Amino acid sequence: MSSTGLQSPVSTLYGVGTERTAQLARLEIRTIGELLLHRPARYEDRRHTAAIRDLVLKAPAMARGKVVALGLKKYRKGTKSLFQLVLDDGTARLHCQWWNLPYMESYFAQGDEVVVYGKTKSVKPRTMDHPETEVIEGGEELFIHVNRIVPIYPLTEGLPQRWLRGLIWRTLPRFLAEFDELEMPGAIAGLPSRRAALQSLHFPEELKETDPARQRLALDELLAVQLEIGKRRRNLQQNARALACGGDNSLIRPFLKQLGFELTEAQKRVLRELRGELSGAQPMRRLVQGDVGSGKTVVAACSALMAIESGFTVALMAPTEILAGQHFQTFNRWFEPLEVPVHLQTGSVKTRDAERRAGQGTPSLLKNRGRPPLIIGTHALVESGFAVDNLGLVVIDEQHKFGVAQREKLVRKGSYPHLLVMTATPIPRTLGLTIYGDLDISVIDELPQNRTPIRTFVRTQEALPKVFTFIRAQLKLGRQAFVVYPRVEETSDGEVKVAMQESERIERGLRPFRVGLLHGQMRSFEKENVSQQFRRNELQVLVATSIIEVGVDVPNATVMLIENAEQFGLAQLHQMRGRVGRSRHQSFCILVASARTREARHRLAVLERSNDGFAIAEADLRLRGPGELLGSQQSGLPKFRFADLAHDEELVKLARESARAILQRDTIQPGQSTKS
Ligand code: ADP
Ligand code: MG
Repeated sequence: MSSTGLQSPVSTLYGVGTERTAQLARLEIRTIGELLLHRPARYEDRRHTAAIRDLVLKAPAMARGKVVALGLKKYRKGTKSLFQLVLDDGTARLHCQWWNLPYMESYFAQGDEVVVYGKTKSVKPRTMDHPETEVIEGGEELFIHVNRIVPIYPLTEGLPQRWLRGLIWRTLPRFLAEFDELEMPGAIAGLPSRRAALQSLHFPEELKETDPARQRLALDELLAVQLEIGKRRRNLQQNARALACGGDNSLIRPFLKQLGFELTEAQKRVLRELRGELSGAQPMRRLVQGDVGSGKTVVAACSALMAIESGFTVALMAPTEILAGQHFQTFNRWFEPLEVPVHLQTGSVKTRDAERRAGQGTPSLLKNRGRPPLIIGTHALVESGFAVDNLGLVVIDEQHKFGVAQREKLVRKGSYPHLLVMTATPIPRTLGLTIYGDLDISVIDELPQNRTPIRTFVRTQEALPKVFTFIRAQLKLGRQAFVVYPRVEETSDGEVKVAMQESERIERGLRPFRVGLLHGQMRSFEKENVSQQFRRNELQVLVATSIIEVGVDVPNATVMLIENAEQFGLAQLHQMRGRVGRSRHQSFCILVASARTREARHRLAVLERSNDGFAIAEADLRLRGPGELLGSQQSGLPKFRFADLAHDEELVKLARESARAILQRDTIQPGQSTKS
């Protein structure tokens, strides 16, 4: 949309005053372009009006007649009301009624010609409850609102359907030509042109036009995203010189020797891919996907060592302080013998504050026999004021908790450092191409050998005593357990309260074993303390809110009990389940849902059957949609009016191919840069 007309505010249209402008703004309609992209929620076929006499019980139908009587009854001291309207079309009378909508009275007058659409709930007398209605006002109105397939738009309080439809009807032909045609994508897919699609979207001749129209407009949305991604990528390729971070194996070799296990084939393959790119001509932009427990941390460590061998600093960013703290410990343990310094930088802990303030120079470089450090942190790393000298590689763990914007911000800290993003949420392909379209993807598609698949059970609350007997038996064997209480109530306060009460109850029930509590509202050092104690097996049971979802690695834990599991998405439950099953011991995941939620338990059964994160994420995407799957913090997901990432896989692919073709066609001359 490049034309100025479409970008003009709706208030420039005739008949749109301040009140209407404000109402439209509530629907996120500010410009004429946005008005014309307002998507009908559904359509009504008003080409055929039924005679009132012929209305059939329970079948939806449209009828039309004159108002012969109307009245509002109030009762219960005026707190309740019933508005009734009687229509006559010459064949019979139809009673329409609305409860507790007293203002309906002001919409109608004796003698008005009214169209109603609804289901007949009884025939003696013929009655419809809360039908859709519109008063017909002759002339043009007869064309727009009846005798055709009419769009029914999402509305907001005070905004009449008929007014909005009339506005779109009058505005569409004036501005239709201003919508740019990108002929290529539509033509490929056998979809209508963009302008034809808009016409069909609002005022279709036949209902079957509306779906291709929707698809065409969805394709345009997806194409816009892919073009953006493609341009960013091309920009990078043209402007960025890659830092040589391939390394010389001098640190990796001893690192792998001391590790205590062999890398899996998948880990090795991904590392080869990473090394190729770290020593390549263009900065790496790579996403490594690996199911929970597939060993992404070691891969991150090896790639960090490659950059450090090459003399560059590495930054690793984690989504929570707990996770950053855990990484700090792990990497310290791994890197200490190699004399590679590791620093922690979170909101609450800054191990290298002093050094950082000491200047932009190279204090840590000098102090540690020339080895540049690994800096571990949370979002604090992206806060302004933090400058990393000599940054060669940025690793982002559990990417889905970060937005694209944050990622960009961090990468801009240096002169095009390499970027490695690691995610345990297996992103279904359509989503991946849309959110991570500018990243290449590697998959660690193999779990370490020593794993026994987790056994998962769905249980009702009545089974809890048995479950706890089972947990006690596991603790006696020397194992540990997680107990998770998710959003039990709407507020996070409620969640914490329940977790606290439960932890006390569990503590009493499981004596002499020790029970700790972890929740999001604890202070950082308290959280760190509790995580530590659990890691050292000073606590045998950790009661937690869903904050343990990502990353916590305690191999000795073999039981994951999740209460109110029905409140979680499948992908999220799979993540939590991944906290166990990290050793030779058989692990168990018990999902408890209340007996009332039969349907939810049915959904949870997917987890009983499958340990495959990708299959589970696909199921979740279909059941709950992308927003839910990714969580509300996913700011990288564009807002679509027409595209549906759960179902439009073909369109996503098509958009990606089209974007590539378009960018290739318009390839700019060397030297002519497209800074964005
Ligand atoms: P995730 O991919 O979920 O981040 P981690 O990197 O935390 O998984 O690894 C899970 C556990 O598996 C860790 O305890 C790690 O040390 C161990 N691990 C990683 N790779 C291997 C391997 N190749 N063989 C055995 N254990 C491994
Ligand atoms: Mg991890």
